[in-house]
Amino acid sequence: MSKVSKKRFIAGAVCPKCKAMDTLALTKENNVEKVTCVVCGEQMVQTEEQVEKVVRQHEQVIGVFKP
Ligand SMILES: [Zn+2]
Repeated sequence: MSKVSKKRFIAGAVCPKCKAMDTLALTKENNVEKVTCVVCGEQMVQTEEQVEKVVRQHEQVIGVFKP
């Protein structure tokens, strides 16, 4: 649990499995970017470009809900 590795959390991203927010951590393994949900353990392997796309999608969704 306390193993410290280079983790970047994707702000505003929602896990597609458990729908938790801000739980998706971006890690790099063997030069492959991995997105791991720290709540349910869901793992997605994505290129940085795809991750950015997902983040942007969520930003748009958040924008829609802005009053
Ligand atoms: Zn999850």
